[in-house]
Amino acid sequence: MNATSTPPDGVGVAGKHLAPCPDSPNCVSTEAIDPGHAIEPLPLADTDQRTIEMIASAVSSLPGSRSVLTKENYLHAEFRSPWLRFVDDVEFLVDSEEGVVQLRSASRVGRSDLGVNRRRIEEIRSRYEAALRAIALRQDKSVATTGENSMPDEIDEFEIVEKTDEQWRAQLTAEQYHVTRKHGTERAFTGPNWDNKAAGIYSCVCCGLPLFSSETKYESGTGWPSFWDPLKETSIETKTDVSFFMRRTEVHCRRCKAHLGHVFEDGPEPTGLRYCMNGVAMRFDPAAKDKKVTSDAQDEH
Ligand SMILES: [Zn+2]
Repeated sequence: MNATSTPPDGVGVAGKHLAPCPDSPNCVSTEAIDPGHAIEPLPLADTDQRTIEMIASAVSSLPGSRSVLTKENYLHAEFRSPWLRFVDDVEFLVDSEEGVVQLRSASRVGRSDLGVNRRRIEEIRSRYEAALRAIALRQDKSVATTGENSMPDEIDEFEIVEKTDEQWRAQLTAEQYHVTRKHGTERAFTGPNWDNKAAGIYSCVCCGLPLFSSETKYESGTGWPSFWDPLKETSIETKTDVSFFMRRTEVHCRRCKAHLGHVFEDGPEPTGLRYCMNGVAMRFDPAAKDKKVTSDAQDEH
C-alpha cells in the first residue's frame, strides 16, 4: 500500500518480522529472546516514520547508546558497557498491519545483565509514550483554542521572531520584560506555576512557542517551575552563561531568544536534567479537559 508497509532488507529483519541477527551469537532465533524481555508491543505515532523518529529520539538520550541505525520502519540500537564486556542490541520494527511496534533485544557480545536491558527497554517505552502524550496534549490544545482570540496555533515554529526593545517593552509586563529580555531571575516561590500540577502546555510568553509539557514537570522544591525535558528538542537553545562568577547553562526560546532560565545536571531520571525556568517567562495553557471546566464556570456569569 505504502512504501513503509514493506520492511527494508536489513539487519534483523526478514519479511514482516524481526529475524535473527546474522552477527549475534546469542540471538540465533526469535525464540532465543529472553522471557525477561517479553514485553507488550508499543503503540504507533501518526506515521511509521514519525514512530521511528520518536523511538530514535528516546533511544539516543539513554546512557550507553552508541549507534542507532534507522531504516524506514526499522530501528536498530546498540548499547555498550564501558569496558566492552557486552554489547546489547535493541530492535524495533513498525508493523502497520497489526498497528504495533515489534520489539526485540539481545546481547551480542558477552553476557549483559538481562535486567539492565529490560529496564532500558522500559525506559525507552516510557520516554516514547510520554512524547506521544505530549503530542496528544498539543492537539487537544489546538482544538480547544480554535476560534478564540489566543495566539494562532499555525504559527511557523521555525520563523525567528525579532522585535525592537520598545516593542518588547510595550508587549510585556515589567517583570516579564526584565526576565526574558534582560536575563533576569524572578525570586523563588514568587512567580506563577512553580507549584502548578495541572495538565497542559507551557509556552514562551514572548512569542507563544510551546516549550514544555506538564508531562515532564516535577516537584524540584526550588520554587521555580522545573522540568526534566523540553517539549521538543528544537523548542529551546542553550548557551554557556558565566555571569555572577558561576558557569551555568542558560536556556532560551529558540524562536525569539527570550531568556527562560537555566538547565542543571541534577534532575531526575530519565534525563538527569533539571530545566529550572522562570514562571513569568512562560504562559500556561491547560489541556482541553481542564480548560472546559474553566470555560463552563465562566459561562455561568
Ligand atoms: Zn519565544
